Amino acid sequence: MLLSDNGRELTGTGGAKGTPGCAFGPSGPSRSNVCAAMSELPASVRIREVGPRDGFQNEPEVLATDVKVRLIELLAATGVPRIELTSFVRPDVIPQLADAEQVLERVTLPAHISASVLIPNERGLERALRYRDRFSEISGFLSASETHNRHNVGRSTGESLDGLTRTFARARAEGLGCVAVIATSFGCPYEGQVPVQRVLALASDLIAAGAHEIGFGDTTGMANPLQVREFFVRARAALPSGTELTAHFHNTRGQGLANVLAALEAGVDSFESSFGELGGCPVPAGATGNIASEDLVSMLEEMGIATGIDLPALIAAARAAQEALGRRLTSHLLSAGPVDWR
Ligand code: ZN
Repeated sequence: MLLSDNGRELTGTGGAKGTPGCAFGPSGPSRSNVCAAMSELPASVRIREVGPRDGFQNEPEVLATDVKVRLIELLAATGVPRIELTSFVRPDVIPQLADAEQVLERVTLPAHISASVLIPNERGLERALRYRDRFSEISGFLSASETHNRHNVGRSTGESLDGLTRTFARARAEGLGCVAVIATSFGCPYEGQVPVQRVLALASDLIAAGAHEIGFGDTTGMANPLQVREFFVRARAALPSGTELTAHFHNTRGQGLANVLAALEAGVDSFESSFGELGGCPVPAGATGNIASEDLVSMLEEMGIATGIDLPALIAAARAAQEALGRRLTSHLLSAGPVDWR
């Protein structure tokens, strides 16, 4: 279900944990209209923590396996329901994740966590399947932009789609869930605008290939909130209602959380983020920063939208990542801490 049928009561003194809730001015017609619109936001969302993959992959340092395992286990203790653990890319291409097997071997996760791994191709899936009992979902990816796809994986989008179709078939035969991620869904650093029709046609093909969830990636932080809202309204109308639509925003230009609000307004209740604002995309150089998980959780919980995540525990995990990397990370909550409503 992407939209809550029975919107939350936000017009009273409620809101999460004693926060002021819908605290608009005391008079005027706008109050009821705004609150009515807000009541259509989802009551809860699902967050997938992608820091151990999207984050570690794009930071210059190579963390020791034991450090990664400790950070993943700290994340798992926050209540986050889904974690992307690593990627089975070629170790010589991404040395930061060359220890994918060891991470899966060593990490201990609570039973409620849905663990996923990023799979670049069929060879990567065969490597991962040796640890089949350690994860329940795979993520496969392509770019909506032909040029970005060629820069990223050296193949055409059509060739990537064919590969994903075979990969998903094999994964489903193993009982794995399949998440398809479409990079550059909102714009491409090489081609500029990416037609929504093209993105949604690829999404349809990926659903036909067996994906139960589609992640739409703003890979280099080009999206704006109006574009995002219109995109997801169209996506929800065009794609089967049983398919989970996930928003994956980067904070490259500081618009990540504004884009989250726009996606919520279009009924999206599934998001990906990275603790500490780690990561980004290596293509093109200089593009950095997924939205920070702790900033996302803080905003949602302050709005009365449940995440199931313990914010202080999440900040502690981000702080541990900061210490492990030995430099300051950029999330706002790491500096400011949670809102204090004393
Ligand atoms: Zn990303």
